[in-house]
Amino acid sequence: MKSSLYPAQDLRRRTLAWALKLKVNPRVVRVQTMRRKWGSCSLAGTVTLASDLLDQESCFQDYVIVHELLHLRYTTHGRVFKALMSAHVPGWQTMEARRMQAT
Ligand SMILES: [Zn+2]
Repeated sequence: MKSSLYPAQDLRRRTLAWALKLKVNPRVVRVQTMRRKWGSCSLAGTVTLASDLLDQESCFQDYVIVHELLHLRYTTHGRVFKALMSAHVPGWQTMEARRMQAT
């Protein structure tokens, strides 16, 4: 990601671009301090991303973003969920090993 005066805004923009690509429609995308997770997604459509993600490389950001956005459509990490992860974020399994947690 290019350096910016507003990194959190860039992360939100990146998330909205992914939302278009994945054809999902988050109601709200927030970037905030999260102590134990990289991201979460509520049933109401709020996607929350950890501000710590701003220090991570862009491929890892994509991994967390796509994971949370796919939860707008699939609540569990089933076969279809994993297939879509592989399609959009090749190699996501290796990133999963190092994440805190993306629920
Ligand atoms: Zn999950």
